Amino acid sequence: MAVMKFGGTSVENADAMQNVINIIKTEKQHKIPLVVLSACAGITNKLEKIADAAADNRSDEALHWADEIQKHHETIAENLLKEPQTVASLKALIKEYIDDLKTLINGVDIVGELTARSMDVFYSYGELLSTNLLAAGLKEQGVDTFWLDARDVLITDDNFGKAQPLWDLTMKSLQGMVLPELQGGNVVVTQGFIGRNRSGKTTTLGRGGSDYSAAIFGALLKRTKIQIWTDVDGVLTCDPRLVPEAKRLKVITFNEAAELAYFGAKVLHPATIHPAVTENVPVYVKNSKRPEIEGTLITNDPGLLEGASYDGLVKSIAYKTSQSIVSIKSNQMLGAYGFLAEVFQIFANHKTPVDMISTSEVSLSLTINNTQRLRQIMHDLEHKAEVDVEHDVAILCVVGDKLRSSPGVSGRIFNALKNVNIRMISQGASEINVGFVVAESDLQKAASALHHEFFTGHFNEKIFA
Ligand code: ASP
Ligand code: MG
Repeated sequence: MAVMKFGGTSVENADAMQNVINIIKTEKQHKIPLVVLSACAGITNKLEKIADAAADNRSDEALHWADEIQKHHETIAENLLKEPQTVASLKALIKEYIDDLKTLINGVDIVGELTARSMDVFYSYGELLSTNLLAAGLKEQGVDTFWLDARDVLITDDNFGKAQPLWDLTMKSLQGMVLPELQGGNVVVTQGFIGRNRSGKTTTLGRGGSDYSAAIFGALLKRTKIQIWTDVDGVLTCDPRLVPEAKRLKVITFNEAAELAYFGAKVLHPATIHPAVTENVPVYVKNSKRPEIEGTLITNDPGLLEGASYDGLVKSIAYKTSQSIVSIKSNQMLGAYGFLAEVFQIFANHKTPVDMISTSEVSLSLTINNTQRLRQIMHDLEHKAEVDVEHDVAILCVVGDKLRSSPGVSGRIFNALKNVNIRMISQGASEINVGFVVAESDLQKAASALHHEFFTGHFNEKIFA
């Protein structure tokens, strides 16, 4: 039995939802699936804007955007559903959710403060709305369907905005509420991303967390597979917008997938990997717009990996744009201790994650993506050191399990990039990636050169499609 997770673009409008319904119908002939959905594309971001506006005394704007969200889902209901009665009852339900959202907006406006706890309630409307629409569509088209409030099964800790599941409780409620429905022949449709703590308050797993929900459900219910349906054909050797000759990987290991995710391949939330790996549930990444394509299988199962051995070094090249390099230079670093701790504390104080670092005796370069607090960070750092910032750079990263045991990789990278100015380089502790930083204007050139170096002549049909 499958857990099928559909991302925001797979449910963005009525056509996309109809596609999803068709995919579910096909899967159902086989075995009754558990379906996990994201919010419709763009809605989670909009809810974030709404929450910010409410906290910022701009509730007029917030309420206006809430109306837009209502309209968006009403339009899907009108285009997806045939029966006027179903359309009407769905619209009434949408209105109920939007009324609640508006109450929340007014509350936050009055208090003038947005806590992580309230943010999670804002977020929850996206997934609650999308799942209700899809469930109604399935039912209307004759598919026995049970709409499940994920918060009744995904029980989490109190870490609002970044909650972790409480495994035993979640397992128990899944077994009590989901298994009987599936066994009774109902497709179960539920939300990704959201859960509830033990006192019943809505929590979320962090942005992009629907994949994690799917993996949690798949692992706990010991499903035979987890499908992550998205808008790309699977995991590719590189983003085809950068390198048109990029190919799809038929299979990769969990380690490789995790590294790619950390380094910006938008296919999988890194945390997804964890529960699926523990229970060894294979994960398939597939394109909901082109379901006939087999996608990419991510697994550590030796049986499934059989025949997938590959004599090339690199499996894929990932990248992240919109990075900034912060270079810190200080003689205080020489032979001293505690300096780096102080530097990182400053970034921590400003809640700014650091992605890549490289150090020498008296200097340190690091990359950040979130520059919202950069001015304050600079201010704090300048007491201690000389600081330089370079914007518009990208992290590029080559990933492959074989990098671990292969000498000469950096030589090949440098050689391939001889015409590109490499701003930073670092080999990950996992030893299966080498990452470096280039100017965004060099990104395409660098990616093409690397792709050519590592893949041309290595397109083994067993693992590339
Ligand atoms: N809708 C949530 C987000 O956009 C969760 C998800 O899509 O995975 O972050
Ligand atoms: Mg998503």
